[in-house]
Amino acid sequence: MDLRESPEELQFRAEVRAFVAAELPDDIRRKVLGFLRVEREDYVRWQRILAARGWGAPGWPVAHGGCGWNAVQRNIFDEECFSAGAPRQMPFGLSMIAPVLMKYGTAAQQARFLPRILSMDDWWCQGYSEPGAGSDLASLKTRAELVGGHYLVTGQKIWTSFAQWANWMFALVRTASDGKPQRGISLLLIPMDAKGISVRPIRTLDGGHDVNEVFLDAVQVPVENLVGTENDGWTVAKYLLGHERTNIAGLGMCKRLLRRLKEIARTQMKHGQPLIDDPRFRDKVAKIEIDVLAHEWALARLISLEQSGRGLGAEPSMLKIRGSEIQADIGELLIECAGPYALPHVEAAMDLDYEGETPGGVELNPLAGLYLDLRKVAIYGGTNEIQRGLIGKSIVGV
Ligand SMILES: Cc1cc2nc3c(=O)[nH]c(=O)nc-3n(C[C@H](O)[C@H](O)[C@H](O)COP(=O)(O)OP(=O)(O)OC[C@H]3O[C@@H](n4cnc5c(N)ncnc54)[C@H](O)[C@@H]3O)c2cc1C
Repeated sequence: MDLRESPEELQFRAEVRAFVAAELPDDIRRKVLGFLRVEREDYVRWQRILAARGWGAPGWPVAHGGCGWNAVQRNIFDEECFSAGAPRQMPFGLSMIAPVLMKYGTAAQQARFLPRILSMDDWWCQGYSEPGAGSDLASLKTRAELVGGHYLVTGQKIWTSFAQWANWMFALVRTASDGKPQRGISLLLIPMDAKGISVRPIRTLDGGHDVNEVFLDAVQVPVENLVGTENDGWTVAKYLLGHERTNIAGLGMCKRLLRRLKEIARTQMKHGQPLIDDPRFRDKVAKIEIDVLAHEWALARLISLEQSGRGLGAEPSMLKIRGSEIQADIGELLIECAGPYALPHVEAAMDLDYEGETPGGVELNPLAGLYLDLRKVAIYGGTNEIQRGLIGKSIVGV
């Protein structure tokens, strides 16, 4: 296994770096790197800049308007975008429902939805989890009953990321309740402006609003919005979850956080010296840096395995756990850097154009929220406990 980049890959990296440096709007970059609030419009603007360059869909085949890149190219692209301060490309349309439509969707569904995902004319959200169905997703209860040419959908979804911005939701619903719970589930495409849908925000510990409850009360969904076969949605759902695990290592975020940690440790003082020069703090930063480096090599090995066509086993689960732990560790060190100034939080200062004051300065203001927000990485995309279960099954067969 040779993990060094080839001359072509180095050239590709340089090309991506130059493009992002030239085209990423400065206001978006400052928001992202400062861990400030990034708005819907910022994500859409950046996606359209990428789409105009032909780089809107790194993971899609060329036939559907994608880049047709291999895993190494996609990783280089992600790394460069992350390191320059680009907002992440929202996965719900691009890397969740789009691959499903390519595999299971009708020609009409592909023609209708794929171009609008690329241009981000549609914002998708994922309606899987319910109050009684998270890790145990097959126990979901939202019902869909075929009446005439429509499904009537009634139930509740929860933790639906960015439902407040979405105009479409792909949702798992129960279309039959006899037999195994995995049977009788179907995947429906539901317009968020349909009568009977209401979205209620969930405020998270950090004060942010990314997740929501979505209530569906006899919502009419045309039968042509069914993806795949009725009652066979579990197969489709599993295929989609396989795609949800892409970019699961969170390496870009680990590196971005590490960089921020060093920047802040250079500006914060301890006994008249920059904190970064304190030997004990320096040791902690060095240890985290080693963790990030090891994580990078583990990801490179995974990509190399993927490239060689070998099936992946427990590796994505291991990377997911490790990535979430490293992010949480850096979050803690950031709080240590800020000391007593970590606690006071001025909500208005999360906006880029804030001109007022904050107790510890604007660069420290987002850190407590960031620390709390980073807890979620261990939960979404399959909790770390569930990932450990998968590792156990795959390696030791328990
Ligand atoms: C920030 C965020 C965004 C999210 N976005 C979305 C979204 O857009 N769409 C969507 O559908 N969902 C979303 N989710 C939901 C997420 O997928 C679920 O929270 C996750 O699957 C866990 O389900 P749960 O919250 O019901 O917890 P539960 O499944 O009830 O788990 C509770 C605890 O028990 C543990 N546990 C459960 N089963 C086992 C087991 N078999 N072995 C060992 N331990 C176990 C879990 O690890 C956890 O610690 C999001 C969650 C978060 C935090």
